[in-house]
Amino acid sequence: MTELAEAPTRERREGTKRISHWVAGKILPGESGRTGPVYNPATGEQTGEVDFASLEEVGRAVAAAKAAFPAWRATSLSRRAEIMFRMRALFDEHRDDIARFLTAEHGKVLSDARGEVARGLEVVEFACGIPHLLKGEYTEQASTGIDVYSIRQPVGVVAGITPFNFPAMVPMWMFAPAIACGNSFLLKPSEKDPSASLYLAELVQEAGVPDGVFNVVHGDKVAVDALLEHPDVNAVSFVGSTPIARYVYSTATSHGKRCQALAGAKNHMVVLPDADIDMAADAAVSAGYGSAGERCMAISMIVAVGEAAEPLLEAIKERIPKIKVGDGMKPDVEMGPLITREHRDRVASFIDSGREEGATVVVDGRENTPEGEGFFLAPSFLDHVKPDMGCYVEEIFGPVLGMTRVDTYDDAVRLVDENSYGNGTAIFTRDGGVARQFQFEVQAGMVGVNVPIPVPVAYYSFGGWKSSLFGDLHIYGPEGVNFYTRGKVVTSRWPDPATSKVDLGFPQTR
Ligand code: NAD
Repeated sequence: MTELAEAPTRERREGTKRISHWVAGKILPGESGRTGPVYNPATGEQTGEVDFASLEEVGRAVAAAKAAFPAWRATSLSRRAEIMFRMRALFDEHRDDIARFLTAEHGKVLSDARGEVARGLEVVEFACGIPHLLKGEYTEQASTGIDVYSIRQPVGVVAGITPFNFPAMVPMWMFAPAIACGNSFLLKPSEKDPSASLYLAELVQEAGVPDGVFNVVHGDKVAVDALLEHPDVNAVSFVGSTPIARYVYSTATSHGKRCQALAGAKNHMVVLPDADIDMAADAAVSAGYGSAGERCMAISMIVAVGEAAEPLLEAIKERIPKIKVGDGMKPDVEMGPLITREHRDRVASFIDSGREEGATVVVDGRENTPEGEGFFLAPSFLDHVKPDMGCYVEEIFGPVLGMTRVDTYDDAVRLVDENSYGNGTAIFTRDGGVARQFQFEVQAGMVGVNVPIPVPVAYYSFGGWKSSLFGDLHIYGPEGVNFYTRGKVVTSRWPDPATSKVDLGFPQTR
């Protein structure tokens, strides 16, 4: 078993920073000549350079995955479960190391990074129950002497293409169930924060997953297209922005692959006048500015109903200046930088466009942003946002929280439903009947009742509606197992040879 201290990626972690592919259980240095920079967003310094895979390099990784598949799918469920348990233990043991990779390249604060690892670990724990999850159905004596049973089998080589905002959790959402189901896996992580994936690869190997079952190819559109078009890739899971998700889904399916593509979001938080306003303000500020707003389940739009608006505005205004913004490695910091300088500037541009379109800029984060070259933008808050403004229509994906005011509950639900996204939404109220009505009618895949970020626990599945998901099956949980397996139904007869005869009639079940 490889000692982590001697593993090849250890050196990179301490500074040399060439980030290469992981194929068939070892580092495959990129030879395409194409690379991308990796930054520490808290300082603005480039800390690494990641290789971008060529068509040929993706082909080598797919070949490794394909070669590893037959033996892995034939590995017993009890052995696979044992390996998943070991993977779970190793991820747990090294959760702080994983978290440090996330903070170093994504910028999220360490406590948040640990939370990301914890939520990923829950999916690994779920995958430890794979023998139970793959149990089929059995019908004895479906017809005289005939039994029928259903089984689920792995789909083969599957690819996972992941976004920058959860460099450990979203890959775990995919590879843990995919591998447990008996598939071999190719991860194409975000090129913006790619190091965590290699550290995970070492731990996966140490857990006992055979070489070739888990591979990492880094890169951009070239690598993604190579995966989408490769005839030996059978299924693609994608998480990222809506335009790319739409493209990935249409390209993968037109090449005959199964695909689930989770996409962007604009999550509305409806606050009714009877809500506990302090609780709602705490939730809005936590869910709006946590991870600098770079969460697909972040609250980005508060919908204040009637008299909720003024007290909510005051309560949020009071909380914003207390948020400590800075380098996420420092223990007391609550909000880190954004992922890149360009993204920070785009996010900040919504403060100006909002003002020009008639919104009230209550807090302009640029006035409180830490000095230095880091990609910071302090929490910003816009009131009187209207549905036709750019800051309402676009997914901002940063710490610019908006509030829109409506007169009634029905107006609020209409806004949520008319929005093109349908990832998550939440209602804050003390009225159980209204909350139940909201859950019943609202057009979104994940609903919170006095819970601002309703990410389902690992034994349910995660996914949005409308332009937040392309495909039929949500990710992880029972739907994840279905996505990574195909159903087969066997009809079986062990006749008494004495009763066997030729019969050309259509088989009857009675
Ligand atoms: P992105 O769409 O830019 O990138 C996602 C992946 O696609 C990356 O691996 C990237 O390398 C690749 N990619 C980028 N451009 C491509 C192209 N032209 N062709 C092929 N592949 C391409 O997303 P991001 O900026 O990394 O992540 C943020 C987005 O992800 C937000 O929109 C957020 O809402 C969304 N997200 C959604 C969920 C969800 O569960 N619905 C979860 C996390 C993030």
